Amino acid sequence: MEFISVFDVFKIGVGPSSSHTLGPWRAASRFIRKCRDTGICPGDKLRVYLFGSLSLTGKGHATDLAVMMGLSSHDPETIDTGKVPVYVNEINANKSIDVHGINLIFNPEEDIIFEKEFLDYHANGMVFRLIRGNDTILEQTYYSVGGGFIIRDGESLEKFENAPVHPYPILNGRELLDHCTKTGRSISSVVMENELMDRSSEEIRQKLLGIWSVMLESMYQGCHTTGYLPGPLKVKRRAPDIVEKLLPAGVSYSNATEWMDHIKNSDPDFQKILKWVSAFAIAVNEVNASLGRVVTAPTNGSAGVIPAVLMYYLCFANRSAGSDEIIRFLCTSGEIGSIFKKGSTISAAMGGCQAEIGVSSAMAAAGLTELMGGSAEQCTIAAEVAMEHHLGMTCDPVGGLVQVPCIERNSMGAIKAINAASMALDRNPEDVKVPLDDVIVTMWQTAQDMNRKYKETSEGGLATAVNVIDC
Ligand code: SF4
Repeated sequence: MEFISVFDVFKIGVGPSSSHTLGPWRAASRFIRKCRDTGICPGDKLRVYLFGSLSLTGKGHATDLAVMMGLSSHDPETIDTGKVPVYVNEINANKSIDVHGINLIFNPEEDIIFEKEFLDYHANGMVFRLIRGNDTILEQTYYSVGGGFIIRDGESLEKFENAPVHPYPILNGRELLDHCTKTGRSISSVVMENELMDRSSEEIRQKLLGIWSVMLESMYQGCHTTGYLPGPLKVKRRAPDIVEKLLPAGVSYSNATEWMDHIKNSDPDFQKILKWVSAFAIAVNEVNASLGRVVTAPTNGSAGVIPAVLMYYLCFANRSAGSDEIIRFLCTSGEIGSIFKKGSTISAAMGGCQAEIGVSSAMAAAGLTELMGGSAEQCTIAAEVAMEHHLGMTCDPVGGLVQVPCIERNSMGAIKAINAASMALDRNPEDVKVPLDDVIVTMWQTAQDMNRKYKETSEGGLATAVNVIDC
């Protein structure tokens, strides 16, 4: 069984899409490393073929830019996102990519080829070629399988054989609950034990807190950046308008931590809390839509749900909570995300938006339930409830951009997660009719029955109902 770490689920990256931006970026980086190992000469040529959903919505999801950045060996975790357009312009002007001092010919207009057909294994396929003269000297096929995860043709077996053994193997919700029952541990504690096989306790803490700090910063940036999102839809940024009147006049702050302290001291009126939660979620996805830095949770398109719900807890539900609660929340929600990935999918190209917003809502609901004092069973009930009410949700981004309906959906996913946690905390597990694993199976069956046009192709739903020209 493949072990999926919490750090595989939560990855720091660049927007707007984990499957269409981060995945292709990472695949291109891996391919160029392989090229270097194989041996490259000045004048060698690079060519990339994008298949299926990567081709149909690739332009709107910046797949072409991501491929350029990956081939240029830029790291999505550390790149100065403001410089991406500069690097892209250089490649377009030079029609080449510098790989550690060796110039490889690469004209994005001709060498990124959008193929409408779908490869068999997954809807997001990519083929990379290194060409010398008339010969292809290296060719690799990758699939971007959701959440920034990538698989190279024939690779999963190698990963399985080399995987370390973890004390609590978890394939589904039942196994997770069995471990919790037998050990008396919470979900986050079981997850932490597994993570300790790969990293020290201090390293895990620092990495998780680093992930939270990127989430917090994306909320802060999004709530303080006005104007319009890039692209032809001319979508106005909404987060700053929502939060503008929520803090008392005259409040001043200069960073995300000070801002958060003021929110904690603000009026805990229900309507205002609702607006804050929406703004947190929308803010992250406005940053994501403008190619800013966010954390996949479990994907970029759904990156706002988890930060918004955790921020809700820290600012309104338990104002004295700190690092320990942040770590527990991320461990529990991350494990729920990995169970969905193992039993169904977190790829919108395979499962529609239920695989993105639905899964993120389920993850957040479980994390919040644990922090609110719920048992492990109640955490899985919360995850089930949140997913149950996203089943069948289509992926139909207007104009192929991760903006409409994506940004608003994060707000709805966050609110549903908070409500699901609240309902689960009042629930006796013995009365539950739908276990988590049943909803995961249902989600996967629904995904398979869903018409392809509703799975991140922009060929159906709102994507065709809304005329981009009129926007
Ligand atoms: S509609 Fe949902 S799944 Fe599709 S791109 Fe937008 S957020 Fe992602």
